[in-house]
Amino acid sequence: MNKNDFTNNPYLLLTPGPLTTTDTVKLAMMKDWCTWDDDYNNIVQDIRKRLVGLATESIDQYSAVLMQGSGTFSVESVIGTVLPRDGKLLVIANGVYGSRIVKIAKTLGINTVVLESGEVEALDLNRLTNELENDSKISHVAIVHCETTTGMLNPIEKVSEIVKRYNRVFIVDAMSSFGGVEMDIASLNIDYLISSANKCIEGVPGFGFAIVKKDEFEKCKNNARSVSLDLYDQWKTMEEQNGKWRFTSPTHVVRAFAQALKELEVEGGIKIRASRYKNNQMVLSEGMKKLQFEPILPGELQSPIITSFYYPESEKFNFKVFYQRLKEKGFVIYPGKVSALDTFRIGNIGNVHQKDIEGLLQAIEQSSFWLDAVSKN
Ligand SMILES: *Cc1c(COP(=O)(O)O)cnc(C)c1O
Repeated sequence: MNKNDFTNNPYLLLTPGPLTTTDTVKLAMMKDWCTWDDDYNNIVQDIRKRLVGLATESIDQYSAVLMQGSGTFSVESVIGTVLPRDGKLLVIANGVYGSRIVKIAKTLGINTVVLESGEVEALDLNRLTNELENDSKISHVAIVHCETTTGMLNPIEKVSEIVKRYNRVFIVDAMSSFGGVEMDIASLNIDYLISSANKCIEGVPGFGFAIVKKDEFEKCKNNARSVSLDLYDQWKTMEEQNGKWRFTSPTHVVRAFAQALKELEVEGGIKIRASRYKNNQMVLSEGMKKLQFEPILPGELQSPIITSFYYPESEKFNFKVFYQRLKEKGFVIYPGKVSALDTFRIGNIGNVHQKDIEGLLQAIEQSSFWLDAVSKN
C-alpha cells in the first residue's frame, strides 16, 4: 500500500467529530507505544494537567480523569459515578444529547426528572427555578452546553446561577464546546464538565474525559453502577499511580491528543481557536444566506460550533444527491437531527479555516442543482 493512501485526505470533514485533524496529529500515531513505563504515564499526567489549565484558572480545585470510549461513555461514567443511590437528577433537555443523558440515567436506575425545552426555542429558566424550588430531592442538574443537534449554545452561566442558588451539583456535557468556546468552570460553578478527544481539541476518537471538582468528587467512592465506567476508581488509579489507566488505554489516540494539545497552544489557546470557529461560522452563515439557505436558529442562540440549515424550498432538492455532489468536490457535511424539521448541518470545528469555508460555499453554489438559474454541474 502506498503511503499516500494513508495521508492524503480525500475530503474535509465538516462534521462535529470525528473531524479533520492536522497531519501532525495523525503522524503522532505512527508508532506503537508501551503503556507501563514513565514515558507514557508522564504524557498522560501532562494531558490531565493541561486539560485542567484549559478549563479554569483555579487549577487547585479541579482534576481531570480520562476514560476509554467515545464521548457518551464519559457521560455515562459521570452520571453513573457521581449520583448517590438516593440522588435525583434533573436533566434540561433540548436535543438528542440531552435526551441521551436522560436515557443513561434511567437505564442506570437513577431517579430522573426531565425539563423538556423546545429544540429551537430559548430555555425557559423560570421552569428550572420552579422545579428546584419545589423538589428538594433533586440533588444534581445536568445540561448540554452546545446542543450539537441544532447548534444551540445553552446559557450555562444563567443555569448555573439558579442551580447554585439552590445548592445542587452541576453537570455540564460540554462535549462539542470545550476548547472551542471560552469558559472558566470555577467561575461558572461547574462541578463536572465532560468532553472528548475528537471535538474542539482536534484529536482523534477513542477516549473522553471529565474535569471534576475535587472536593465534590471525593464524595463519590462506591457510587458507581459499573466497573469499567467507574470514574472514581479510574481517577484514584491515575492519581495514585502517576497517570496509569486501569485497563488497556488507547495509546495511539493519547499520543495524538498530546500533539493536538500542543497545537492548540501554538495556535494561541482557546481564545484564538474560538475566534477562528466564530469567524468560520459567520462566513458560513452569511454565505449560505446568499445561496438562499436559512439557518434554523436565531443568531443569539447560535453556537460557533455547528450550524443547522433548513432544506431549501424546492421539490427538486434531494439531500442525498446534494451530499454526494459535495463529497465529490471534497466536502463532507452532516445530516440533520432535529425531530420535526428537515435540516442538515455544517460544522466549523477541526482543522478548518476561512478558505475552507469559502471553498465549501463555492462547491455548494455549483451543486445547487434545484435552482434553475444555476448551471447543473
Ligand atoms: C459528540 C457529542 C457527544 C458524544 O457523542 P459520541 O458519539 O459518544 O462521541 C455527547 N454530547 C454532545 C453534545 C456531543 O456533541
